Amino acid sequence: MSFSALGLRAELMLAVGEQGYTEPTPIQAQAIPAVLAGRDVMGGAQTGTGKTAGFTLPLLHKLAEQAGGQHGRTAVRALILVPTRELAAQVQASVYTYGKHLPKIRSLSVYGGVGFHPQVQALKRGIDILVATPGRLLDHLAQRTVDLSKVQVLVLDEADRMLDMGFIPDIRKILAYLPKQRQNLLFSATFSDEIKKLADGFMHDPLLVEVARRNATGDLIAQRVCPVDREKKKDLLAHLITTGDWKQVLVFTRTKHGANNLAEKLGKSGIRADAIHGNKSQPARTRALAEFKSGKIRVLVATDIAARGIDIDELPHVVNFELPHVANDYVHRIGRTGRAGSSGEAISLVCVDELGLLRDIERLTKREIKKEIVPGFEVDPRIRAEPIVQGKRGGQQQRRPSNAPRKAGGNRGQNAPRQPASRAGGRNSRDSGRRSFAY
Ligand code: AMP
Repeated sequence: MSFSALGLRAELMLAVGEQGYTEPTPIQAQAIPAVLAGRDVMGGAQTGTGKTAGFTLPLLHKLAEQAGGQHGRTAVRALILVPTRELAAQVQASVYTYGKHLPKIRSLSVYGGVGFHPQVQALKRGIDILVATPGRLLDHLAQRTVDLSKVQVLVLDEADRMLDMGFIPDIRKILAYLPKQRQNLLFSATFSDEIKKLADGFMHDPLLVEVARRNATGDLIAQRVCPVDREKKKDLLAHLITTGDWKQVLVFTRTKHGANNLAEKLGKSGIRADAIHGNKSQPARTRALAEFKSGKIRVLVATDIAARGIDIDELPHVVNFELPHVANDYVHRIGRTGRAGSSGEAISLVCVDELGLLRDIERLTKREIKKEIVPGFEVDPRIRAEPIVQGKRGGQQQRRPSNAPRKAGGNRGQNAPRQPASRAGGRNSRDSGRRSFAY
């Protein structure tokens, strides 16, 4: 299928051509006509499939087709809710890129961790497409600095992540500010019963478009597990980077402290690295990301939440230095590579403590991941599993319970890590102490 068959406006086709896209990705081919036709859409697509353009292009088309000038209009016409600051900035950048030849469409992203007042000023000038994280948007609603009464299209991006981060009550509150009559689009890498319940509550006869098996990991991603002793992970990582001559690698740790520690250790081994996580200021995070993208630093160590929305074309290597507590996060993490048709490699360094987590991941993704011992890093079978206590290495924050009072105008902490699913933690604790390394 070609882009021209989708019937998008010439200005959008121009922008698509400038991006070098030759044909729509499968999610775009399915979602764009449905969105243009005004249908509610539930998109089962993980990050890297081109889903952002899948909803942004038809959204821009529809808004541009509407008659009437910008003058005097301050109410938002389309709202895109995303779980993290990085994703908000990234989605808005896409809206800008695809819409730059359209004369009258204004977009803005609002999220916590940065000044409130400049956002108020920008909102006053009139915004057509607002990209927002739920916490900061609720702050604006509480202060009456945003008007959502004219929203025609609502997009919930990465709904599964919203759920994981405890944002569903906030989303329900936001829904109450929107007009009943509107189009709804929901995108999620995975569909749990809770997501389906949420969708049932506000979507009307949604068209289900799916590009990969539910809870499946992308086929373009070569996955492997390198079994290794707990204490040798850092050396193994440095070895893999050096021997493989990796130029750009995104590494995941479970904790902020772990991320800092690892970046420092890699630096000492002569590998330029930096860490991004929720304790770093937004400018520091933006800078680290820019340096990583430009190749100035070779390794970016990130916690799950901070890594959301990082979009780097053809990121070749993703390493799970530690497996996530929540198996879904594995799917998201490795979705950072193998994006939109390019191939990528995801390597997990797994020690004896993490066998329960690995089993959860293999069960969720319905595939056994290839195990490969790196010569010189053979595991010591005498080492016994230890419990992974969340926050053991420090740096973990408690999430505010969703019903706790919150400060208007305050920084909501979009990037605070959530607590691990009790099941995963429990399973792991049960494993500990008894299990030696065996697959
Ligand atoms: P997303 O899944 O929205 O995060 O997009 C992943 C990546 O795919 C981004 O870097 C886009 O620039 C790229 N992309 C989106 N649509 C296409 C397309 N039709 N052809 C090639 N690359 C695309």
